[in-house]
Amino acid sequence: MISAQLPDPQLQPLLYAKVTKYMIHGPCGVDNPQAKCMVNGKCSKHFPKEYRERRDWAEDSYLLYARPNNGLVFEHNGARFTNQYVVPYCPQLLLLFDCHLNVEISAGLGTVKYLSKYIYKGPDRATIEISGGM
Ligand SMILES: [Zn+2]
Repeated sequence: MISAQLPDPQLQPLLYAKVTKYMIHGPCGVDNPQAKCMVNGKCSKHFPKEYRERRDWAEDSYLLYARPNNGLVFEHNGARFTNQYVVPYCPQLLLLFDCHLNVEISAGLGTVKYLSKYIYKGPDRATIEISGGM
């Protein structure tokens, strides 16, 4: 199971603590225009996400997670975070590993192409050229 919602703090206090500690994106946008994710005035990770009552598939084979506007708000350092700011996570893995753990569901041909490219790309490397004499 993958979720992109704040858990109910009364029903799942431990999971709520982990989600609010590790799985909240931001603040960015107008609340923090200098955030690392900001590119040309927009969040490069596309936060805040739209509210969505049910999950659905996007055209690019990625899942659009349910992010209901259910009134749950997490406040931290004066910023307010709703389900629009939750990075998708697997509750079991988050509780087990106790760290930031973004888990996404994807399907379709694009996924196969991405995995193939990712696996065979090799290690990260760079090319530098030094020119000029002493
Ligand atoms: Zn952002």
